[in-house]
Amino acid sequence: MMSQSSGSDANSISRRWGPICNCGKATTVTKAWTNENPGRRFFRCGVHGFINWADEEKPFGWQKVSLLEARDEIRQLKESLKAMKEHMVSVSGSGNYDNLKVEEELKKMEEEKKKLEEEKKKLEEEKKKLEIEVMGCNEREKMLRQLIVLSWGCFIVVVAMCLGMGNK
Ligand SMILES: [Zn+2]
Repeated sequence: MMSQSSGSDANSISRRWGPICNCGKATTVTKAWTNENPGRRFFRCGVHGFINWADEEKPFGWQKVSLLEARDEIRQLKESLKAMKEHMVSVSGSGNYDNLKVEEELKKMEEEKKKLEEEKKKLEEEKKKLEIEVMGCNEREKMLRQLIVLSWGCFIVVVAMCLGMGNK
């Protein structure tokens, strides 16, 4: 079976489902949270695990995509929370239900709301992690550049000293 998908269009990144694994199962898109690849998405087979990266290796490329995604997801969660609150108000405000039923429903919704809020918090934490990572990379790059300049400076000083000694 030779089914190598060579046509990797840009749209493939936004799909939740990845290519078919060699075992014939559809892969899902999952986010990696390793230190090396935080927020980078990969295709995961339910049986074989990691199949391939979904995000190309570009500096900060997938972090940015993940940040945008997290932002959208947080926004969506906020909207569902708002809708839920409105629904709760309308349920508790209507006199058609008997009190027990209303209380039960409100309790259920409260739980759902808590779950959503937890998810939102988790996403916000992931987003923060990514932002720190992206900033950290920039910081590291700056430090590296300074280090190179510094080591060149030392090198020149050493060479100058050697030349000075040689001239004596
Ligand atoms: Zn598989």
